[in-house]
Amino acid sequence: MRVVLLGAPGSGKGTVAKVLVERTGTPHISTGDMLRAALAAGTPLGVKAREYMESGRLVPDDVVIGLTRNRLGQSDCLSRGYILDGFPRTVPQAEALSVVLSDLGSDIQAVFNLQVSRPALVERLSGRRVCKSCGAIYHVVNMPSKVEGVCDVCGGELYQRADDQPATVENRLDVYEVQTKPLIEYYRNVGLLYPIEGDKGVQAVFESIIHTLDAIGKVARNQA
Ligand code: AMP
Repeated sequence: MRVVLLGAPGSGKGTVAKVLVERTGTPHISTGDMLRAALAAGTPLGVKAREYMESGRLVPDDVVIGLTRNRLGQSDCLSRGYILDGFPRTVPQAEALSVVLSDLGSDIQAVFNLQVSRPALVERLSGRRVCKSCGAIYHVVNMPSKVEGVCDVCGGELYQRADDQPATVENRLDVYEVQTKPLIEYYRNVGLLYPIEGDKGVQAVFESIIHTLDAIGKVARNQA
């Protein structure tokens, strides 16, 4: 599987990516997770990224392009593909991705655009809680953990991301509108865009993705 998950913050990219990983074993590449790990480890890259992330702005293209290039070149991605989540987020990132993939002899099968209305995004982001240890994602109303503040999967502590605070959420959605939304047109023009109704729940989103990939595979086989 070689796919990109596109969509606003809170559209469910991370949640559906986790299901895709569990069911297909494809490596999950989340630039947000990689940057948060660098930030937690206090690396120079994490220090550089902090001010952008905490204010809801995008980290400079060269930083995330470098991170993704390195990750895509690792053996698991070369043999099993990738689920790109949160990258690309700008047109220059998409252009760089296409060069990186062509250098690696790879290409994208499909870009899934998870569509969710803005009020629903605000509600999802402000109620989101994440496990500090394993990264499992919850929602205080829609998907609460069994014990408040404790991860069902590993018993880790749940926390609210700094950038899920209400003021930063609005800023991130504005950044998405201006910098990331043009990617919808970009990928439509190259024939890779597949819209998905992102408010139908994770199982329905997962099934649409698998069904679409099956259909793409059949077309490719018929053309061969
Ligand atoms: P996410 O977990 O995908 O919502 O990303 C959290 C934050 O990390 C974003 O608000 C950005 O500050 C930064 N980030 C993640 N991916 C990218 C990217 N592809 N380009 C620039 N900044 C990114």
